[in-house]
Amino acid sequence: MSAVLIIGAGAAGSVVAKKCAKNRHVFSRIHLASRTLSKCKAVQAECESEITVSQVDADNVAETVALIKEFKPDLVVNMALPYQDLPIMDACLETGVNYLDTANYEPKDEVNFHYGWQWAYEDRFRDKGILAVLGCGFDPGVTNIFCAYAQKELFDEIHTIDIIDCNAGDHGKAFATNFNPEINIREVTQRGKYWKDGKWIETDPLSINKMIDYPEVGPKNSYLIYHEELESIAKHFPHLKQARFWMTFSQQYITHLTVLQNVGMTRIDPIIYEGKEIVPLQFLKAVLPEPSSLADGYTGKTSIGCVIEGIKDGKQRKVLVYNVCDHEQSFKEVKAQAVSYTTGVPAATGAMMVLQGLWSGVGVRNVEQFDPTPFLDELAKQGLPWHVKELPVSAAGADPLAEAHNAAA
Ligand code: NDP
Repeated sequence: MSAVLIIGAGAAGSVVAKKCAKNRHVFSRIHLASRTLSKCKAVQAECESEITVSQVDADNVAETVALIKEFKPDLVVNMALPYQDLPIMDACLETGVNYLDTANYEPKDEVNFHYGWQWAYEDRFRDKGILAVLGCGFDPGVTNIFCAYAQKELFDEIHTIDIIDCNAGDHGKAFATNFNPEINIREVTQRGKYWKDGKWIETDPLSINKMIDYPEVGPKNSYLIYHEELESIAKHFPHLKQARFWMTFSQQYITHLTVLQNVGMTRIDPIIYEGKEIVPLQFLKAVLPEPSSLADGYTGKTSIGCVIEGIKDGKQRKVLVYNVCDHEQSFKEVKAQAVSYTTGVPAATGAMMVLQGLWSGVGVRNVEQFDPTPFLDELAKQGLPWHVKELPVSAAGADPLAEAHNAAA
């Protein structure tokens, strides 16, 4: 029986709080704190069991330290924004409390997200005898754990990984992002990058695309983008020759994004407007729908998985490990859309792993460094069932996704 402090009462954080509140056999005390107290109270009112709430500015280490000292959690789950990762890790270090998040750190004034910022905390977390679990959402998160499962159970050597991420849902808005708009647009507009033969290959933003056939939702145009789990996967899978990340975007989304970029609305450098300094992207975020507001009436499904190819018992093998999640079902259960659900449920499941001692150790770890089995067993029980599909192996020299296209029915 353990206490968890969740920071961030947004779209995904609300799912974590509600899921923890459904699992009181693990979480004896639950506290939700965020920048806006009214959002915490709204989540509190919808939780199945009693949780406490308060206001915190997690950019301010002293405030978070005071909150931790008052609530005395065994684990802090960071569901705020990537900007808050380091200050919350600093507060955990000061108070000797374990840490878990779903997105790697990036500074506000520069698009430069990578694990180096947080891996640099390894010695300090180890010396303090505490654990930081990095990237425990869906992607990063479950996708890394699918790869760890494949390495443990399905392959002797993994050679290629293609993470394929499709949201085939419809929220009925002309343009909206499924998670925090500022973070989403920073991620999508940066240059693409993938891992090949021991080095990174850079591409122009959204310049490579391909039709991929996703389980239960069918063929969708998918774009190669850089996504943070590629960095830790390239580090932790020793036989890997290639790792890529693909995400679907509708033509309507791309058209809107292109216009917004062309008129300067996605800039992250400050401009002066009527004598006041504003950041265009932050202004844009303020006028776009909040991701949590998309949930009511969202239809369709997400379909996310890993196409993995390698060697088992001397023979070539290719599999797809995947989950499909329904927006309407997610809304019925916790009043969230599937992108928030698929982020929040793994974070709550990861918290269960740490608090039950099923994931343990000290230092800073990515999720693929833990035993995938108890996590995946629990994930299915918590509402995200997952499946393994055998695929025809690729012809010599062929793109692994050429075969996946017709096989992932
Ligand atoms: P939201 O914008 O809905 O929620 C973010 C919440 O954090 C808001 O409630 C916000 O407060 C709060 N917050 C922001 N700054 C602070 C601060 N300084 N102190 C305290 N609270 C703060 O975003 P999402 O829920 O969609 O995303 C949350 C996180 O999940 C992000 O880091 C995102 O990158 C990550 N994510 C990970 C995914 C994965 O699969 N791994 C997928 C999707 C998201 P306020 O309400 O006042 O703005």
